[in-house]
Amino acid sequence: ASDFSSLQTDNSFARLGSDFYTRLPTTPLKNPRLVHANTEVAALLGLSPRATLSPEFLAVVSGSSSMPGGDTLAAVYSGHQFGVWAGQLGDGRAHLLGEVVGPTGNWEIQLKGAGMTPYSRMGDGRAVLRSSVREYLASQAMHGLGIATTRALSLVSADDPVMRETVETAAVVARVAPSFIRFGSFEHWAARKRPDRVRQLADYVIERFYPECLPPRTGEAETSESRYVRFLEAVVERTATLMASWQVVGFCHGVMNTDNMSILGLTLDYGPYGFMDGFDARHICNHTDANGRYAWHAQPAVAHWNLYQLANSLYTIVSDADKLRNALDRYEPSFLQAMQARMTQKLGLISWHPGDELLIDDLWSLMQANHSDFSMTFRQLAYAPGLTEAEPRRIAHDLGGTIGDGTGSLSPFIDLFVDREAAHAWLARYQSRLLRDPCPWESRVSSMLSTNPLYVLRNYLAQQVIEATQRGDFSELDTLMRVLAAPYTAQTGMERYAALPPHWASKIEVSCSS
Ligand code: AMP
Ligand code: MG
Ligand code: MG
Repeated sequence: ASDFSSLQTDNSFARLGSDFYTRLPTTPLKNPRLVHANTEVAALLGLSPRATLSPEFLAVVSGSSSMPGGDTLAAVYSGHQFGVWAGQLGDGRAHLLGEVVGPTGNWEIQLKGAGMTPYSRMGDGRAVLRSSVREYLASQAMHGLGIATTRALSLVSADDPVMRETVETAAVVARVAPSFIRFGSFEHWAARKRPDRVRQLADYVIERFYPECLPPRTGEAETSESRYVRFLEAVVERTATLMASWQVVGFCHGVMNTDNMSILGLTLDYGPYGFMDGFDARHICNHTDANGRYAWHAQPAVAHWNLYQLANSLYTIVSDADKLRNALDRYEPSFLQAMQARMTQKLGLISWHPGDELLIDDLWSLMQANHSDFSMTFRQLAYAPGLTEAEPRRIAHDLGGTIGDGTGSLSPFIDLFVDREAAHAWLARYQSRLLRDPCPWESRVSSMLSTNPLYVLRNYLAQQVIEATQRGDFSELDTLMRVLAAPYTAQTGMERYAALPPHWASKIEVSCSS
């Protein structure tokens, strides 16, 4: 289609009724211009690449005019922030424009930074270009990695000054997802002692997004409450899988408050997130999180804690607490199973053998002791010498040169560790483990390369793009967007994006300020 007005809309969230939101228009910005549009996301909505260049498109995604057929509103929710009940929050700077019926499914479009709402509290309803670039890039990076995430359709920059630590300028990201409902959306109605509203919201989410939870399981006594238990089980499952997918790429969310937890198991609300450079299990990406509540190693347990808050909310409509507890108890085995499946793949193993746990734990310890680069360690393992000596094939290396040419001079994996002896010792164990998993060398290597990314959205890469974008140069953003779309494949001329971070990268501080 050539523009929004030719798209079919649905607006099912709006039909829940005005208790769930406040209808209000966006507040236009001064001199808005399109920094970038994601044509792949536009296609999900049914918009052609050409449509993203039209003035009508800019008017909608900048918040200058409403979306034809849409229903503009800000949703209310509550939540726990840093482990403490925060009461009512809500879309303080987000406007849902409506729901588009796309060629393969329905998508809600939400603007972030398009003005104040009744839920803005002390905030100004705006987002700065810096943090908007970060959200835009992260949405692409996560999707490219194959991790469930909200998508970003467009990034708009404007002239309005926005006060943070210094004066910055305003921007708007248009985000796209099947739904932006959060754990906190349920907590909101539970806290207000409105089980009717909790039930209404749960029914909406189940019918639209978890239809598999509607029918009873065979042999199970079906009650009017059973579907909510199955729903919790499904959310537990999706969240556990999401956590495993974060952990294995070194992604830290930074603000895992319950209002930032998607009920669909999507990565939601990119603020002070970070992909780790040098490995540190205790890595904290959010400068504001002094106690490390949301440090990398803590994320899986925090997600479980957040699921407890969701279960607590569902306790208003499920009388049997044991059933909810049993659903929550599925979290740990689900997470461990998802981790195991991913680690097996990352190490190029065909199947899991007893003792693999120790081998993997020792790799984490080696990485921790040496602060070896997270992404590179896994990526270079595919090229580890010996893997190739066993079968003298040649493979062109990501970073140039040829591995397996018999010279043994290239040892990119070992080079990542200060303690080379320890790295050699672990590698020897790993290599003898591989002998128990016979598999053609090429297929092992290609499987490892397809699960260990070469390109990750390192903070310094985001920072360089932010600075270029602030200067009015949008080409750097476009290039990085292309690189991040295919993070597992070496792209010609893109070597610099695969390099180890420069020294200054460790000095970048990211906080909640956005
Ligand atoms: P966050 O930590 O980014 O998830 O934000 C927590 C809450 O604060 C959410 O309800 C946001 O909508 C709101 N919020 C954050 N920044 C702003 C802002 N600049 N203006 C209005 N509300 C905001
Ligand atoms: Mg949020
Ligand atoms: Mg936020």
